[in-house]
Amino acid sequence: MTLPLALERWPEIAGRMAGKRPALFLDYDGTLSPIVRRPELALLPPAARAVLGRLAERMPVAILSGRLREDAAALVALPRLYYAGSHGFDIAGPPPAPGEPPLRQELGEGVPAAMQRVADRLRRDLAGIDGVLVEDKRFAVAVHYRLAADRDLPRVEAAVDRAAADAASQGPRLRKTGGKKVWELRPDVDWNKGKALLWLLGRLGLDRPDALPVFLGDDVTDEDAFAAVAGRGGIGILVAEEAQPTAAAYRLRDPAEVVELLTRLADLAEAAAAAGGDAAPPGPRRGAAGPGQAEAPPAAAGPEPVPAPAPALPEDAPLAADWRAGRVHILGPLAVPGHTPRLVRIYLPSTFTPDAPHFALYMFDGQNVFDDHPSFAGGWHLHLAVEKLARGKRPAPVVVGIDHGGSKRIDELSPFAAESNGAAARGAGLDGLLDWIADSLMPRLAAELPLIGGPLGAVVGGSSMGGLAALYAHFRKPRCFGGALAMSPSFWVEDGEILRWVQAQPTPPVSRIYLDCGVREGRGTLLPQVAAMAAHLANRGYDPDHLMVRADPRGAHSEASWRRRLPRALRFFYRSSPSDEQRVPRQATGGAAAPSFRPTGY
Ligand SMILES: [Mg+2]
Repeated sequence: MTLPLALERWPEIAGRMAGKRPALFLDYDGTLSPIVRRPELALLPPAARAVLGRLAERMPVAILSGRLREDAAALVALPRLYYAGSHGFDIAGPPPAPGEPPLRQELGEGVPAAMQRVADRLRRDLAGIDGVLVEDKRFAVAVHYRLAADRDLPRVEAAVDRAAADAASQGPRLRKTGGKKVWELRPDVDWNKGKALLWLLGRLGLDRPDALPVFLGDDVTDEDAFAAVAGRGGIGILVAEEAQPTAAAYRLRDPAEVVELLTRLADLAEAAAAAGGDAAPPGPRRGAAGPGQAEAPPAAAGPEPVPAPAPALPEDAPLAADWRAGRVHILGPLAVPGHTPRLVRIYLPSTFTPDAPHFALYMFDGQNVFDDHPSFAGGWHLHLAVEKLARGKRPAPVVVGIDHGGSKRIDELSPFAAESNGAAARGAGLDGLLDWIADSLMPRLAAELPLIGGPLGAVVGGSSMGGLAALYAHFRKPRCFGGALAMSPSFWVEDGEILRWVQAQPTPPVSRIYLDCGVREGRGTLLPQVAAMAAHLANRGYDPDHLMVRADPRGAHSEASWRRRLPRALRFFYRSSPSDEQRVPRQATGGAAAPSFRPTGY
């Protein structure tokens, strides 16, 4: 059979792209990353990451992998991509269009529990055989035998077959598939990478004749996707040293050639965009992002679009099936009345145990709180900062990152409506979000995790609009949050209304406040506003034990600055031993009643 080399046929491929709306789908192992002896070491070459980032600016890009979705996403570490893990059983990505909820799809009820039983059994059965690695992939179990001796392979395969037969008697029927030095057991349902690819095309608005799906893969499990793109007039490219029977139309020899092809695709797409020829393909747009971008007060706008129907977890469903220390758990999407459904990211510190009470730190803009991967501008690595607290013998809080609602972020983090815009004013969406946090999210978390109740147990934090929202939340919900961590807070919103509003609020019974900003932020205009708030609080009796203010000479309005400042902010809230001395705050001037602080115990 002949299978032309894609790089040699580049003019033909480029010709097929002309005037089309391309969408790029890629397998990971063996396609983007060379096959390695241990799957956890299959890192993405930096050149591949760079070119995928360029392509994602121009077209939807999705990774279709047999790995766990989170694994694939962590290895690729690019926020704008769609990730379909477990051969397409588990799909997530940014909102396909502004205002829509993030993309999410998960198939197979009860499958992860059944797969865990199969994996446990195979680990027991194969314990005596060297070089076999059993991987629980949640929607599949993989038995890797690359490092095993050939003479052991019949025993390994027999154990896989036995596990499949026994599992079928109690749960879903399983199907055995083979790959490169691996057997996999998966639920025997009609779903595969090809179906996942077509589902994604539909959700991305590319179920149309001028769409051009392109898929690159290297393995037998990729053949369904090659067939799917061929059926849509798309382009399938097999990554293989030698030609072999396939539904793909072209071949690349190895992952290095993949990078070369992707580079040509990116050049082509950028040239087309520069010429203004091609319409921008549907897909996530940068505008839906978060902080770090211009954050003017909300401007006039038309009526709110109706939130998309919530593909949300039922209210009575457990938030997480399997809480584990030292891990970020991504929950949801959860329905938020009046807002778009959203994910909540929860980090349990490595010192977490279910039988000890823990503090909780609630953070706005959950996409930015942990890793770089879901964040457009880099994450704050808060999980690493929390682990530093634990190493310093300080209490390490459970971190609850609440994702923002994409394009509606500014609205939902705004405490104040723009009065001049009357009934159609944007903003003031924050009260609804805070009600949901207080009345729904916090009780659900308290039912599953040993969290310290009341304001002693919880601090709320964020940066920029999230910092403004955090300070407002502390004074608005003083029974929920006993502290506010506000980095570079957007105090200019509605002409500095937050200062006037705080001046009118009673002092919360438990109150510790952290404020910071870069000296030059907003051309030096933010610092005076932060200083004015700090002066007001000091006049009310906040002493250095209850108020920390930092002016960062190097600080910018950026994720990198907030990442750098977070550890110190955390040390302010979380101390190695609670102060048993109840300090009496300085008496407020002007005859205001002295606030009554309780020992905080943070
Ligand atoms: Mg592969």
